[in-house]
Amino acid sequence: MKILQRPAQVAVVGLGDLPPGVLAGMRHAIAEALGVAARGGPALDRPLYAYNAARGQYHTPAILRRLASLRAGAGGAPVVGITAVDLFLPETRYVLGDADRDAGAAVISICRLAAADPEALGRRARVEAIHAAGQLLGLSHCGDHRCAMYLAEEAVDCDRKGPGLCGSCRAALGLP
Ligand SMILES: [Zn+2]
Ligand SMILES: [Zn+2]
Repeated sequence: MKILQRPAQVAVVGLGDLPPGVLAGMRHAIAEALGVAARGGPALDRPLYAYNAARGQYHTPAILRRLASLRAGAGGAPVVGITAVDLFLPETRYVLGDADRDAGAAVISICRLAAADPEALGRRARVEAIHAAGQLLGLSHCGDHRCAMYLAEEAVDCDRKGPGLCGSCRAALGLP
């Protein structure tokens, strides 16, 4: 199997207000699961430029374009964003996140990951952060529902996943 070339680091940035500790938890989870350094980036505002008033949601590709534009300032590192606003793609009711591997940008939303227990939200955010960063490292969606690279369509999917990657996704990154 050809092992994917990993970038030395990824940047993790927040767009708008987030619960305390979520960003730091994402950085730790990405570093631990994917074997890349994950560092912070600029704190961004809520992505009003992506707001679609008719849907009351935020257009994911517009956010990915903005995040991709930050790569130059991040030393070329791929950028993972996280936001509390609700995201959509034109053909979907909503998405939990999306990634553009060629552009080197991904975004996840905690809007639909909220739980009565704040620790459950943090855990879901960590799993989806690994998923998003994993896509930027070249991993594809995984058929194993326990693997972080499985495509989560709702919060319960996140709860079955993780904390990290399955054996074959680890092998694709050259991880033991
Ligand atoms: Zn995905
Ligand atoms: Zn997997």
